[in-house]
Parts: sequence; C-alpha cells; structure tokens
Amino acid sequence: MSTGNNEVKLHMFEGGTLKCHLENIKMNQGIGQEYEIPVPWFIVEHPRGLAVIDGGNAAECATDPRAHWGAICDVYWPEMTPEQACVPAMKAAGFDPADVRYLLQSHLHLDHTGLVPFVHPDVPIYYPEQMEELRAASVAAGYQTWREPPGHPVADGAQVAVGEMQVEFVTVDHDLPGASGFLVRTPDLTLAYTGDHRWHGMHPERTAGFARRTAGADVLIQEAVGLAQLSHSWPDGGRPPAINGLQSGRREPTLDEAELAARFGELLARTEGLVVVNLYPMNRERVQAFGAACARHGRQLLMTPAAARLAGWGGVLVQAERVRRWPARHCVQLGFLELPTLIDLEPPPGSVYVHSNGPPLNEHEPAYAVVKAWAEALGLAFVSLGTSGHSTPDDLARMIRLVRPRLVLPVHSRRPELLPAGDTPWLVPAVGRGYSASELTRAAQSAATAVHTDPQDNPIAP
Ligand SMILES: [Zn+2]
Repeated sequence: MSTGNNEVKLHMFEGGTLKCHLENIKMNQGIGQEYEIPVPWFIVEHPRGLAVIDGGNAAECATDPRAHWGAICDVYWPEMTPEQACVPAMKAAGFDPADVRYLLQSHLHLDHTGLVPFVHPDVPIYYPEQMEELRAASVAAGYQTWREPPGHPVADGAQVAVGEMQVEFVTVDHDLPGASGFLVRTPDLTLAYTGDHRWHGMHPERTAGFARRTAGADVLIQEAVGLAQLSHSWPDGGRPPAINGLQSGRREPTLDEAELAARFGELLARTEGLVVVNLYPMNRERVQAFGAACARHGRQLLMTPAAARLAGWGGVLVQAERVRRWPARHCVQLGFLELPTLIDLEPPPGSVYVHSNGPPLNEHEPAYAVVKAWAEALGLAFVSLGTSGHSTPDDLARMIRLVRPRLVLPVHSRRPELLPAGDTPWLVPAVGRGYSASELTRAAQSAATAVHTDPQDNPIAP
C-alpha cells in the first residue's frame, strides 16, 4: 500500500495505447492520419485493499500483439512496453498486486479486459450481467481468455460492496452488449465512471439513464475517445481543433445505428447481386439490425460459424452452393481472413462489398489493399458504411451538462485538453499518480483547469 492514511485514493494508469488511423473512428475521414488512443485503467486504493477498474491491455500486447489480438491488429494495433502492463505498472507505483481485492469490468472490449486471465481465482471479478452471454460466447469462440471461475455478473442498478465503497453498475450504450458505467460511493466522495459509451447507438436512453443516475456526482471520469475525431460536430457549431496540424475538411453528422441500418436497407434495395458485409460480430445489435434489413429485402444474412457464435446469430454459412445459386437472396458476413470464401460464392455482376467497422479499414494497411483487390477482382462495388462506438464532442458536453459534476477527469484520449467542459473544472490525471479525495475536492474548487503530464507534477497539492 502506498499510503498509510484512511483516505480513498484514485490512480489512473495507461496500459499502452491503441494506434489506429482516424478514419477507423469516423469512417473514411482523416484518412492516413495516425493517432493514438491511450488505454486507461484505474486503481481505487482504500484501507482494505485495492480495487482495479478494467485492466488495460493484456501483457502479451507488449510482446506479441498479433498472437494475442489476431486480425484486430489490422485496424488497431496495441502499443505498450512490458512495464505498462497492469502488474508491472502497479509494482512501479508501489503497490503489491497481492493487495488487489476486486476487479471491476465495464465491458468486454479487449483493451479493457487484459488483466482478467491473470487475476487470482479467489479475487472477485464483477462484470455487467448483460454481457454474460457475449462473454461466454467470446470465450467459447476463442476470442477472449477469461479466468476460471469467471466471477460475478451484476445486474443493472445493483450494487456491490468493494471494501468500504459501494459500486453501482449503471448500463450505458456502446457498440457491444452489456457495457456499463459505475457509480462509486466512497466515504469521502462519489465518483461516476462513464465507461466506453455513446449517445448515437440503438439505446441512447441507457446513456441518458447513466447521466440521470450519476447526476451530482463529485467527480465524473469521462471516456473521451471522440475528442480526436476530426469530423464530429462540436458544441455551439464550433469548429473542431486541428489534429496533427490538419483541420477537418468534411463535416457531416455522425450516423446513429438506426440510420446506419436504414442506409444498409437502401443499399440492399438497389443491389441485384450478392451483398457481402464486414462488421464486428460482437456488435450484436448491428448484426440483428442488418439481419432484419436483409429479411425485409428478401435476403438471409449468413455468417461463418465462429462469427455467428460470437454474434449470437442463427444464420450460418454452411453451403456456398445455395449462395451461388441464389445470390440475391443472401447477404454474407466475411471477415478479412475469410475473403477466399468469395471465390466459392462466385458473386455475379451487381454485387457489393460493404465495410461496416470490421477489420481492416484503412487504406494504409496492407490488408486494406488486399480487401479492395479481392473486391475488384471479383467485380464487387466497394462501400463504407459504419459509425463510431464513442460519444461525439457534442455528446461529451451533453454528459457533463447533465451530470453537473464538481470535477471532470477526461480519459481514454490523447487530446483530453479539448474536452468541451464549459464552466466545469476538469483535470487530466497524471499516469500512476494517486489523487486523494481531498485533492480532487480542491481541484474542483479551483477555477483553473490543470493538465498533469508528469507524475511528479502536483499543482493542486498544498
Ligand atoms: Zn470499448
């Protein structure tokens, strides 16, 4: 333990970064500009031990990301040093990993679940009940490794006691089922952690419910991936700041999932040949929506067995023969590694390949050229149709307005200083540095905002 007193302390760490191209966050805009998304995880330190919130990237990301993440590396490639993995980072900050008493998981994305397989079987892992089906499917499909025993699913609105803290699970909308934020009540202050979320998915009411439930929290830990998205709309018609020296050239409203499905339906209506689609199977709602659109247009959505299992989708591609014979009655999901299946499907003239946030997406990746070459060689028109899993800057401002915290901590963004926080004080937490409740309270009372870039930097301490 790094402190001797009884005060709860919040520590943020960075489990490396996700590198990607801007157009993966907002399809095909800002093409070629790389940027990094730091992967945050947290320790809440309290007198009876440590609670870890999410666990960052897996340690293997430092040594062999492709072996661990597979084809996802075609879009996002994790970059981290061995020291940035959860356990070494904890030790470097003066913690004993044996003091970890609880692990809280907000959702199932790989950049948040890296610690799970390494947690001692006696340490409780709490995760959202609504993600249980997907969790079990992703383990069965070999997509994730999970500890045995898996831990405790927690219902939306239920609370778990974590030492002297109460942690309430509060559902949010993200681009996979069962994403949750947390409302953490400590003896000293209340923390709201949004987890990854957005307002333009199928269930904005969930994210709105989080804002209502956490209203008045002392500290809002705000996921802010969307701040580096060039094309998003900004509050009050403002212009997004330049990123990597480039201004956004194109601004169009972020598509919501329902609009996306509608556009997919329009595409189906005007397509006479086969439709091939590349989406993330974990985004089960999009799979359902695209599948329903297919059904309305006389097609059946078929997925490869592993993808269907992950997606919880009943239509499995078993015989290429049926698709070959009746291409206009089918839509086939194919990931990058399944492209050779296209040969068996023999798409007729008038067929389309739809990219919908499945890997690989950026044209600077060798794999992207491979996809385009396949599409071209087989005469498929190439269409990009996707949307982000993260809040727009407009919606970040909305969350802060609704929650009205005394202090905002923007995380999960390389440009946290762009946070449209209005009059609300904000602080970019330094990696590995602990913040006591009284420090956070003082920061909230100071009119000035602060960016901590160095763990030794301590402008708000007395
Ligand atoms: Zn996520």
